Amino acid sequence: MESEPNQLHILFFPHLAHGHMIPTIDMARLFARHGVKATIICTPLNAPLISKVIERDIQHGTEISIQIIKFPSVEAGLPEGCENLGSTTSPEMFNNFYKALGLLQQPLEQLLEECRPNCLVADVMFPWATEVASKLGIPRLIFHGTSYFAFCVFHSLRCYEPLNTISDFESFLVPGIPDQIKMTKSQQPNYFRGVEDEQTKLTNLAVQSEKTSYGVLVNSFYELEPAYSEHYRKVIGRKAWSIGPVSLCNRDIEDKALRGNTASIDGDKCLRWLELKKPNSVLYICFGSKFCFPASQLLEIAKGVEAAGKHFIWVMKDEENVNNQDKQEWLLEGFEKRVEGQGLIIRGWAPQVLILDHKAIGGFMTHCGWNSILESVTNGVPMITWPLYAEQFYNEKLVTDVLKIGVSIGTQECSRSIDAKKFILKKDDIERSVNQLMVGEEAEEMRGKAKALKEIAGRAVKEGGSSYSDLNALLEELRLNCPKNEQ
Ligand code: UDP
Repeated sequence: MESEPNQLHILFFPHLAHGHMIPTIDMARLFARHGVKATIICTPLNAPLISKVIERDIQHGTEISIQIIKFPSVEAGLPEGCENLGSTTSPEMFNNFYKALGLLQQPLEQLLEECRPNCLVADVMFPWATEVASKLGIPRLIFHGTSYFAFCVFHSLRCYEPLNTISDFESFLVPGIPDQIKMTKSQQPNYFRGVEDEQTKLTNLAVQSEKTSYGVLVNSFYELEPAYSEHYRKVIGRKAWSIGPVSLCNRDIEDKALRGNTASIDGDKCLRWLELKKPNSVLYICFGSKFCFPASQLLEIAKGVEAAGKHFIWVMKDEENVNNQDKQEWLLEGFEKRVEGQGLIIRGWAPQVLILDHKAIGGFMTHCGWNSILESVTNGVPMITWPLYAEQFYNEKLVTDVLKIGVSIGTQECSRSIDAKKFILKKDDIERSVNQLMVGEEAEEMRGKAKALKEIAGRAVKEGGSSYSDLNALLEELRLNCPKNEQ
């Protein structure tokens, strides 16, 4: 493909965690299809995850490539080879991983000098990227990877500080946002609970860089959360473009099967299993790319889904089997044998968008990571919301209280590590929520709303749709305002 004379060259710099890399790759592919020359920055061990996805785009003539920078694992106190947040296994490693991200500033600067792109899209985890880019006169766009709704709640809590005077489980109304949303302090991330860790420091820097960068790219679509998109732009005053759902750039089965990590199950096998099930009859259970439950919680989930009697696909992370000390208790239950035919268990990585796209899927039990929620919405699947950490409790509220396409399982504590004694949800909670989501009038109503959103999401990314137009408007603006390519 011939490059156009005023073709934009944009560098995409994702945070090295699946939940950020996956949408950034989708986003880069989307930009490339809109005529941009897209380069994704990554580290040696993450590169294969990206190259297998973009290979087919390159064959079709799209201008998309990878630029590799070294990851300072050892310098930050991490073992050699730890280049993805998914490979951290302790709070100390987790903190060191964020230190390592901070050390990427200099390599980025060098890369920008060499490539001289017209624009840099860098993850919110790299607050210093705005300054690095501005030294070379390059605009920096931020990619957050969450909803407008979550931004608005976050800004409200920072601005009005309603948490200072209340106890952990007392509920409060989130002030100054378009809907009446009730939450508790215990559902807030560490940032709002006085924990001074690497992430808190980073969040403070990120808030500052949001003010000085060129604007924010949001993986959402206007019709999904119009009041919050307006609030973010007009009340909070940020420049933002809605360009999602970016996962819709994966059009065929191969694209969907290749996305993210290497799947632990053959995509065809999964589809064959689903083909035998009735429409909307299967519950998909997955808690994101990394989270691991203790065995006691796995056991309650197993009892609950078995008792509910619905078909299910359950994705368990490898570590859930390896790490659990009370592994024996879990294995002895003979659960897997008993549910043969009723359930399919995937150990490791599931081809999530391929599964959610199947007509047999009727519900998604999710930890409320923003990608998972959007993927559920784009496939018209209502949800059981089981938020765990970060901004997931905000995403839950959007699903259950604003969009009304989900049932809350009732978690109260925002935490990366579940205290097996205090916060285990019981079989009955799980059985109740599965039945509430999958059968009855309320379930049909939620399903109807979810299916309607699927149609709207599909239209948003097609020519003339809201996200398609927002992306074109951004590219138009960048062509006018960006420094010209020097190559
Ligand atoms: N994902 C997947 N297979 C898995 C687990 C996760 O494809 O077994 C993908 C999922 O489709 C989503 C991403 O990984 O795109 C997870 O992002 P999310 O924001 O939902 O959660 P996180 O893992 O960041 O907490």
